[in-house]
Amino acid sequence: MSKSIEIFETTKNKPSATYNGYQYRKFHSNLGNKIACRCINERSEKCKGILKTKDNLVVSEMPHSCKPNEVKIDVKKQVANIRRRVCETDLSISKIYQEEMSPLFQRGYEILTEIPTLSSTSLHKTKRRVQGNSSESSTAADIILSSEL
Ligand SMILES: [Zn+2]
Repeated sequence: MSKSIEIFETTKNKPSATYNGYQYRKFHSNLGNKIACRCINERSEKCKGILKTKDNLVVSEMPHSCKPNEVKIDVKKQVANIRRRVCETDLSISKIYQEEMSPLFQRGYEILTEIPTLSSTSLHKTKRRVQGNSSESSTAADIILSSEL
């Protein structure tokens, strides 16, 4: 029976796949929704882990030489969640961060892996970029106001 992979956006806005505690990046795809993914530790640990999927279901798997790290991937997924909510909602960044990260701290994840602090996530930059794109007119109004002073 084949299992399905999970896709999430990394901090570089690239889709990344996770399966069984391993993280993969897409390196080859062809017609028929077949995608081959390579372990992200390919370079750092010379891991040969490869996952072949069709319609997001695992077709075949090459064994890894690296160790799975579900906790680390959970944290990455959570950061991706926070990033998405920062872009899509008007809630304050620190509130979103607290809501999404506190379950991880409650599970004691900070002992098992590194949890990025709010300032290290560059979420403030993301927010500024989103606001800059969506409020062109108010920016123009601000300029007029400030030149009247
Ligand atoms: Zn691997």
